[in-house]
Amino acid sequence: MALTGLQIFKLLPKNNCKKCGKPTCLAFAMALAQKKASLDECPEASQETRATLAEASAPPMRAVRFGAGAHEVQLGMETVLFRHEEKFYSPTVIAVSVSDGLAGDALKARIRAVNALQFDRVGTHIRVNAVAVVNDSGSAAAFAAAAETVKATSKLAMILVSEAPEALGAAAARVKDVRPLLACATAATADAVAKIAKENNCPLVAASSSPDGLADLTEKIKAAGVEDIVLCLKGLRIKDELYGLTVARAAALKKTFRPLGYPTLSLVLEGTPEAQAGKAAALVCKYAGVVVLATAEPWAILPALTAIMNIYTDPQKPVQVEPKVYTIGEPTDGSPLLLTTNFSLTYYTVESDAEASRVPCYILVVDTEGTSVLTAYSGDKLNEKVVADAMKKCDVEHLVKHRKLIIPGYVAVMSGKLEEETGWEILVGPRESSMLPKYLQDVA
Ligand code: SF4
Repeated sequence: MALTGLQIFKLLPKNNCKKCGKPTCLAFAMALAQKKASLDECPEASQETRATLAEASAPPMRAVRFGAGAHEVQLGMETVLFRHEEKFYSPTVIAVSVSDGLAGDALKARIRAVNALQFDRVGTHIRVNAVAVVNDSGSAAAFAAAAETVKATSKLAMILVSEAPEALGAAAARVKDVRPLLACATAATADAVAKIAKENNCPLVAASSSPDGLADLTEKIKAAGVEDIVLCLKGLRIKDELYGLTVARAAALKKTFRPLGYPTLSLVLEGTPEAQAGKAAALVCKYAGVVVLATAEPWAILPALTAIMNIYTDPQKPVQVEPKVYTIGEPTDGSPLLLTTNFSLTYYTVESDAEASRVPCYILVVDTEGTSVLTAYSGDKLNEKVVADAMKKCDVEHLVKHRKLIIPGYVAVMSGKLEEETGWEILVGPRESSMLPKYLQDVA
């Protein structure tokens, strides 16, 4: 729980020396409570005060990172139970398993198949972010060799999945420079796995079948000197796992219960690809930080990635595309010119339907602060002046010779004023974008 300004004030030296740049200790305490100052700015604060404030101001859920370079991933740092309360910070990481029972070309082919799990959706590139090496063989040597092959064949972040500390130790020593996530430490192996994590500077996964068991385990691991911990509720039915994840999230964020203030990992290594796809999507919704699937079927991975895209957008910032003129195919100065708004879902729907028409054309996208056509019109963000300004800015006069602009059917009402403002002929297009292909074929 964050401290108030007065609570912080009680911990400060109260000598009003002004070395922090504030006139009084109270002013500094208030600035600190509002996160407008840092305790480092007070050279007079004692070590005890620093420790107390650091503990009190620590985020309710720790940030844990694994992987290296551009493919490092971040988990945790969440502050709310529901996205609309603020936003979620660390999108769920989707990982796909690679068995150490494979070797040679078969192993490399599987790793490449995981690397290839990437998609373009609504103008955004989405992908699987991690490879999970699974110790199916039971052999520490085979596990370590498979981890090395993964490191050589993929830049994705790595998770090492084994219940045997000796296998985790052998693999971690070989690939520690890419900072893999070690999964898992149980009550029986916590000391040994914590030692490996500490020696190799890797985060680890604590696994138990209940939130209470996890709380005991994280305390033990923390006492052993490992701070970067990920929670795993293991061996539960999906219904019970979802319940446990919700309990853990609520305890961490609402009660600031530090032993559960860590991100989570879920293993979905069994069942048909259909079942895995359903479980993974459900886990993304409540509140998995990492989901490891066994299937590498693109159609089974995509639902989870799509759910992540939707859940981890900032609800206060509509997803927008750049306002400008977009080309479909290779348009000429005689090609149709369409108008739409910069709400990304609106734009990509129009783009896809325009492409389906096979009629080369231009799309003039006006800045409506990321709102859809009707919302923008009713909020006066789409009016004749906005459109005329956008036409001037994008110099559409020199783009087409016909001086005709096709506007969405839903805003047919603005055609008269738009004609007066621009001097262009305004054509009213269909209300639904799905009717665009036929419309464009008719007007082209
Ligand atoms: Fe108070 Fe510290 Fe600021 Fe001095 S530097 S006024 S002790 S808060």
